[in-house]
Amino acid sequence: MEKVRVRYAPSPTGHLHIGGARTALFNYLFAKHHNGDFVFRIEDTDIERNIEGGEASQLENLEWLGIIPDESPVNPNPKYAPYRQMERLDIYKERTQWLLDHGYAYKCFCTPEELEAEHELQTAAGLAPKYNRKCCDLTPEEVASKEAAGMPYTIRVKVPDNEVYEFEDMIRGHVSFESKDIGDWVLVKANGIPTYNYAVVIDDHSMDITHVFRGEEHLSNTPKQLMIYKMFGWDAPIFGHMTLIVNENRKKLSKRDETIMQFVSQYKEEGYLPDAMFNFMALLGWSPEGEQEIFTHDELIKVFDEHRLSKSPSMFDKSKLIWVNNRYIKERPLEEIVKLCKPFLAEKYDLSNKSDEWITNLIAVYHDQLSYGKEICDLVDLFFEDELHLDEEAVEFMKDETIPNTLKVFKEKLEELTEFTKDNIQACIKATQKEAKAKGKMLYMPIRIATTGIMHGPDLASSIMLIGKETAIERLSKY
Ligand code: GLU
Repeated sequence: MEKVRVRYAPSPTGHLHIGGARTALFNYLFAKHHNGDFVFRIEDTDIERNIEGGEASQLENLEWLGIIPDESPVNPNPKYAPYRQMERLDIYKERTQWLLDHGYAYKCFCTPEELEAEHELQTAAGLAPKYNRKCCDLTPEEVASKEAAGMPYTIRVKVPDNEVYEFEDMIRGHVSFESKDIGDWVLVKANGIPTYNYAVVIDDHSMDITHVFRGEEHLSNTPKQLMIYKMFGWDAPIFGHMTLIVNENRKKLSKRDETIMQFVSQYKEEGYLPDAMFNFMALLGWSPEGEQEIFTHDELIKVFDEHRLSKSPSMFDKSKLIWVNNRYIKERPLEEIVKLCKPFLAEKYDLSNKSDEWITNLIAVYHDQLSYGKEICDLVDLFFEDELHLDEEAVEFMKDETIPNTLKVFKEKLEELTEFTKDNIQACIKATQKEAKAKGKMLYMPIRIATTGIMHGPDLASSIMLIGKETAIERLSKY
């Protein structure tokens, strides 16, 4: 059997988007499931739209997710290189000459203004705009004289009449398009650079690509590509067009959508774990058999089955992402989560007088509940404030006449401690229960409010340990 080879072929016109990352992921899972190769190729022929650093950023973010290409511009296989389309212009040129020589393509000298006017006429007449083939039958002499006069030209494919382009899509099943609906489209632009639909065929063929998973926006490009395969007498790869990712309002994820972070780098910056993102994205439009939702990379590679790719749009469920990410955070060793969270804390708070042990203890308190690294900053304000600000309810609560005694007893117990550990503090709470005869809410709540200023918070003994002996005693003395 032929070795499976798939590719992810972004245009370096932007950073890695969730949709692109999912395309890359499904290609990768499919390749690895079949012991195949995952190729990263750059489709940079739309030169005005390319951005500085686009390629590096795509690659970096993919690798952060754990989607490591077997071949790429920076890790080429000499058999298939180069991997950037703009470095492959000679290859396309040779193929274009062949198409021209065999009557499959022709030079078109129509100006953009002429084409625009024609387009308007057709639209006004209620027709689907299509090139009128004005240059299709120019004689070789006419072509030569226009060229000699320096007239710019594009190269168009001569779309065959009455042809049907059909294929079995891995996701959608049988798909067919008729050639009569397709105008003679441009293979090579006036600047000599091929269009996407043309270059992609030559690249997929010459890089031995066997399967293509891509977004459904490319479905209508497929007949154009099949046409070129047929002209060259090449077998086309097997296609699978994946459905859209939609937001919670069932609208296509768009780059302007503010309710969802669109770029992988944003998740990295907020302290999501790459393995959790990998897991979450695998479930965006694909589902395994059974109920399991948490999978390692290797498990996903093992169970990936393209037949289970969804035929309907997949919803980007933020709460699910948070749930998955929290599951991964909980499983990771504390030191790793400290490493994840510390830079976020350092950005918001002054940590210069905090020991590493204190920071570790702080993060440990939130380890199990944390959804993503940066969230730590929304939770820990109380440990960085000098003054407590009690709300009305807390003030009201503290008016109970039994409270001063309870707090006095607790303060004395704390004062006796030589080691200010969580367990010792817990023991002081227990001893206070006995001695002050306070229990339940009347024991915990006054201690919590007096030391932390809030009525609900993380584990009480841990909180007091983080506040520190001196500050805790000082706060308790106020009652
Ligand atoms: N460069 C195309 C894109 O970014 C790739 C399309 C394809 O996979 O054929 O959408």
